[in-house]
Amino acid sequence: MVDAMGMRILIVEDDASLASAIARILRADGYEVDVKVSGDEALEAAGRRRSDLVLLDIGLPGMDGYEVLRRLRSAQDRTSVLMVTARDAVLERVHGLDLGADDYLAKPFAMAELSARVRALIRRAHAQASPRVIHGPLTFDKEARRAYLCGQPLELTAREWAVLQALLAKVEKMVSKESIIQAVAGWDDDLSPNAIEVYISRLRAKLDPAGIRIRTVRGFGYMLEAFKAYA
Ligand code: CA
Repeated sequence: MVDAMGMRILIVEDDASLASAIARILRADGYEVDVKVSGDEALEAAGRRRSDLVLLDIGLPGMDGYEVLRRLRSAQDRTSVLMVTARDAVLERVHGLDLGADDYLAKPFAMAELSARVRALIRRAHAQASPRVIHGPLTFDKEARRAYLCGQPLELTAREWAVLQALLAKVEKMVSKESIIQAVAGWDDDLSPNAIEVYISRLRAKLDPAGIRIRTVRGFGYMLEAFKAYA
């Protein structure tokens, strides 16, 4: 059972009364909800903050829902998308599914059906072996190769990514410098232990403000400490 608490849904709908009716239902179901009225606003919001599901109206003024979906997927954003279409034509639905939508709902729909579809999609997304590692305020999505800190995208170079991934695989366990070098290898053949220190210090600069600590294990390597919210 997936709890709705803490789950975020981005609603993209230009019809204000429909959007507020949908938002009311989903909030009553326990989700946190954001409403955007255009494709531009939706993409901006999606880039700033991760959602668990996007409820995407196809008929939007300006950039339509298909274009929003296409841009999300080409940016490697794999958030579940439930498209909402007034167009009942099979080809329209197929087009959306081809672009990477996870399911569709044709207008008009019953709120109970919307609620059930959303629940099913979120359950499905969580049932699939999640490539996402969550460590306190850090979300590390291996499949999408994206990391988020406190809900904000965290910029990491390829090497910082590899070092952090090696540490996250062994939280509260010592990770040798040698095994970190092996994890990073492929970008550079003669990577020195000193180089690893540089990546560690860059990672610390990014993660420390959020309370995530990488401890130095003298003469051996490093350890990502268990996250303590009130430490
Ligand atoms: Ca519309």
